[in-house]
Amino acid sequence: MIEKGDFDIDNRIVAPKQIEADTTDDFEVNLRPRTLAEYIGQEKVKENMSIYIQAAKNRGDSMDHILLYGPPGLGKTTLAAIIAHEMGVNIRTTSGPAIEKPGDLAAILTNLEKGDVLFIDEIHRLSRAVEEVMYPALEDYALDIIMGKGPAARSIRIELNKFTLVGATTRSGQLSAPLRDRFGVIERLELYSPEDLCRIIQRSAVILGVPCDQDGAMELASRSRGTPRIANRFLRRVRDFAEIMGDGRITKDIARIALDRMDVDRLGLDSLDRRMLEMIIKGYGGGPVGLETLASAIGEESVTLEDVCEPYLMQLGFLARTPRGRCATQLAYDHLGILKDGQTTF
Ligand code: ADP
Repeated sequence: MIEKGDFDIDNRIVAPKQIEADTTDDFEVNLRPRTLAEYIGQEKVKENMSIYIQAAKNRGDSMDHILLYGPPGLGKTTLAAIIAHEMGVNIRTTSGPAIEKPGDLAAILTNLEKGDVLFIDEIHRLSRAVEEVMYPALEDYALDIIMGKGPAARSIRIELNKFTLVGATTRSGQLSAPLRDRFGVIERLELYSPEDLCRIIQRSAVILGVPCDQDGAMELASRSRGTPRIANRFLRRVRDFAEIMGDGRITKDIARIALDRMDVDRLGLDSLDRRMLEMIIKGYGGGPVGLETLASAIGEESVTLEDVCEPYLMQLGFLARTPRGRCATQLAYDHLGILKDGQTTF
């Protein structure tokens, strides 16, 4: 049993955000699809994008500004790079928190060439001052710079090359309305089905040169929480188990043994998810229990539970949020093998 403080949130194997291991040897970069045809799943978004790309190309124009939103690890950065590739333009990548001052944004914008894609991850974290500079840049492809202070201050306008902003956010609700209104295309990425994840794993296995059979890939897929980043990470870890415990091939048995050892259960829950559910059930009779109370009972930060555990538990239908607090559903009892009277079924 993992005790309070032992849990390394930043390197959690089922973390949808990038962890350190994903960046070693350019692991993620090598697995990124480069064309729309290689991009698996998200059929609706893909179809729309391919129409917008074709139409812009036919007009000889750049694309409208695009907002991609959805949980981390679903392929927003990948899609932005694909758009640039398909349009035959450069991509410049940055993030909301990295653009600290209006001057930082001005430096980036004035360096863009005609038609370039500017990708801003976590765009909801842009400061107000930076956003203000962004509006005319998005609408008129111009920067209004204020020179000097007081009565002598004057504004000069710098023309920019036409560009396409691709913004990504995990929290579209936190985006300010004026910024949101300036995107011509808004697309939501959905969690992937196990079948799509299975195809992603098989594609990655070919690139990495890891033999992986269909059942093995499906076993990894069904525990990957709908997220390609997690699926690829599992593939990388399970490869080690396959090499040491078997003949190097990832089979269903190897995948099961490896993921069980990593404490990832059949549905992709790890010990933190289970600890949270168990506390609601055993400590608070199934809920409702307030998030803060729950967090202190299991010794985690409430934001961790809210951002890291809840989205997937709610997606599985294991957790309900009510005005009075969090409740575990019957499905959660069933999954953990706990009867309503507190007895276990196994
Ligand atoms: P996000 O920007 O949404 O956090 P990324 O674009 O960085 O996610 O994707 C994480 C990893 O998942 C990438 O390295 C990529 O290999 C893989 N990936 C994401 N979407 C797909 C997809 N549709 N098909 C294949 N691989 C994908």
